[in-house]
Amino acid sequence: MSAETIEFEAETRQLLQLVVHSIYSNRDVFLRELISNASDALDKLRLETYRDKDLQADVSDLHVEIVIDQQQRTLTVRDNGIGMSRDEVVSVIGTIAKSGTAELLERLRSAGDGTAQEAGAASELIGKFGIGFYSSFMAADRVTLITRRAGLDGGVRWESAGEGTYTIEDAPDAPQGTSVILALKPADPEDQLPDYTAPDTIRRIVRRYSDFITWPIRMTPPQSGDTDTAAEPETLNRRKALWARAKDEVSEEEYAEFYRHVSHDWREPLETIRLQAEGTFEYQALLFLPAHAPMDLFMREHRRGVQLYVRRVFIMDDCEALVPDYLRFVRGVVDAADLSLNVSREILQQDRQIQLIRKRLVRKVLSTVRTMQAEQPERYATFWSELGRAVKEGLLEDPDNREQILEICSFPSTRDPVEPTTLRAYKERMKPGQEHIHYITGESRTAVENSPHLEALRAKEYEVLLLTDPIDELWVDAVSEFDGTPLASVAKGELGLDDEDGTGADREQFAGLLTWLGEVLSDQVREVRLTNRLTTSPACLVGDSHDMTPTLEKMYRAMGQELPTIKRILELNPAHPLVVGLRDAHGERPDDGELAGTARLLHDMALLAEGGDLTDPARFVALLAQRLERAL
Ligand code: ADP
Ligand code: MG
Repeated sequence: MSAETIEFEAETRQLLQLVVHSIYSNRDVFLRELISNASDALDKLRLETYRDKDLQADVSDLHVEIVIDQQQRTLTVRDNGIGMSRDEVVSVIGTIAKSGTAELLERLRSAGDGTAQEAGAASELIGKFGIGFYSSFMAADRVTLITRRAGLDGGVRWESAGEGTYTIEDAPDAPQGTSVILALKPADPEDQLPDYTAPDTIRRIVRRYSDFITWPIRMTPPQSGDTDTAAEPETLNRRKALWARAKDEVSEEEYAEFYRHVSHDWREPLETIRLQAEGTFEYQALLFLPAHAPMDLFMREHRRGVQLYVRRVFIMDDCEALVPDYLRFVRGVVDAADLSLNVSREILQQDRQIQLIRKRLVRKVLSTVRTMQAEQPERYATFWSELGRAVKEGLLEDPDNREQILEICSFPSTRDPVEPTTLRAYKERMKPGQEHIHYITGESRTAVENSPHLEALRAKEYEVLLLTDPIDELWVDAVSEFDGTPLASVAKGELGLDDEDGTGADREQFAGLLTWLGEVLSDQVREVRLTNRLTTSPACLVGDSHDMTPTLEKMYRAMGQELPTIKRILELNPAHPLVVGLRDAHGERPDDGELAGTARLLHDMALLAEGGDLTDPARFVALLAQRLERAL
C-alpha cells in the first residue's frame, strides 16, 4: 500500500497540542515511556511464543536498544518484541482509545494554557492517565515508528510531526519489533531540555527510571570521530526484579518508578505493600495502592488485577484471579514459584494456590489500610475519599472479610459537616441507652440531613450516618451489625428508641382518623400510623425493614427494571396541630369532601420533605393554591 496521510482524531490532536506546548517539566520521562512500551512488547512476544508454537518469531536475543546519532540528532529506541500490524498502528497509535480521555481533555482545556501555573495544572492532570507514546513529542519535532508484527511478512512506517496528521506506509524491510526514531528538538537547558544525544544523559535517565526492567537495555555509545574500532554496546540497567531484592535495599523512588511502569499512572503510589511466602508454596508480591482513583474505576470495562510472574518471567497482565473486583485499583506484581509457565486465565480461576494467594493479598491490603488509618490518618483520608466507594462494594462481594472492611470504612455523619467517621468512632460516641447505629440513605447530603426522619434522633442528640453513595443503598441491606451493634435505618420500621410507645398521645383518639386516612390514601400508602419519630413535622413516610428505599427503587427503574409500585407507611406526629386539627375536623364533619384534599396534601408534603418526587405535582399545586387563597 502506498503512503497515506491520515488525520488524528480530534481528541488526539488536542492532547498532542498540550504535550507539545504546555508541559515543560521533566521531559526525560518520554524515554521511560518508550522503554516501558518496548519492555511490554518483549513480554508479549515471549508469551505468544508459549501459546503459539507455530509463530515464526526470533526470540534468541530479546532486548531493548538505544541508538544515538549525534550528526542527525536522532535518538532511536528499538525492541525486537511483538511489533504491530498496520491496523494496530492505526488503532492504538492514531487514536486515544483510553476511556475517560474525553472528559479529561475537557478539564485540561478549562485548566487553560499559558501561565506557568496553568501549565502545571495541565501536566498534573495529564499525569492522571499518562500519555505514553505521545510523550515522545516533548523531546522531538518529528517521530517515526517502524514496526513489524512478529509472524507477519511486511512492516509499517508511521510518521508524524505531532500536529494534525500522520502518514503511514509499507516498510517491506522492517525487522521484527518496533523502532521509534525521534528527530530531537534542539537542546535547551534553559527550557529543561537536555541534550538527549549525550550518552551520560541517557545512562542517567535509564538508571533512574528503568533500572528494574528485566530485559537488557543496551546502548552503543556514538563513535568519537577519530577511532575506527566500533564501541562495545553496554547494558544500562541492572535488571533485578524489585520484589526479589531485600526490602530495605529498594528506595522509595525505585518503588515509585516501578509503580508507574505497572500502573501507567504518572504519579506516586499512596502505599507500597510487600509480601513474602516461603516454604512448600513460595511467592512474592509487590503491591501498590494508588493515591488517586484510576479513571476507569467505575466504568463497565475497568482494568482489574495485578501482573503475574512465574520465577521472574512475566505471565500476564491484569490477572483478575488474584484480586477481587472491589480491590480492582490495587496494582503490582505477584511472582509465584510453582506455577506452570503456560497457565491460562481459566485455569488460574480454579487454581488452589492462586486462591490462597488471593486470600492473603486481600487480608494484607485490608490490614495495611487499617494500619494507615491508625498511624497516618491523613493518608487514610486520601485513600478513602479516592477509593472508598469501590471498597464498599466489598461489603457485598466479600462476606468473609466483612468485619475487616467495615473497620476501614468511614461515612459522613450528622456530627460534622465534612469529616466522616469510622464505625468504631461512632460507637465510642453513642449516648447512654442508644442501642443502634442509626443511618439514613438518600441521594444527597442536603436531602437526607433535613429529612423529617431525623427529628427524634436529633432531639436525643443521636448521631446519624448520612449514606448517599448509590452503593450504600445496597450494602446496608446485607450488613446488619457492626461489632455487635445493630445498624438501623431511620426511615424503616420502628426507630428502636427506648420510649418506643411513648407518643404521649391517647392513641384511641386517633383511631378514626387513621382508618379514614388509610382508605383515602389507599392508592399511595399501605398503612397510616402514629409515630414518635417526629418532633416538628406533621408526617413522614417510612418503609418496613425489608422494603426497598425510594432511592434504590429509582436506581432500579433507571436501569430499566420493571418494579411493582412500592407502597410505604404514612406516619403521623400526634402532637402536631395539623394532625390534631385534621382529626377534629374529621370527627365533626366526616362527610366533608374537602378533607380528603387535606389528607393528600399531608401525604405529598411528607414525600417532598424527604426529597421524593410527587406522582402528580400539578394536583398538589392546585390544592395548595386553593388552600392558600382561602387563608388570605
Ligand atoms: P500504554 O502503554 O499505556 O498502553 P502507550 O501510549 O504507551 O500507552 O502505548 C499505546 C499502545 O501502543 C500500547 O498499548 C501498545 O499496544 C502499542 N505500542 C506502543 N509501543 C509499542 C512497541 N514498542 N511495541 C509494540 N506495541 C507498542
Ligand atoms: Mg506505554
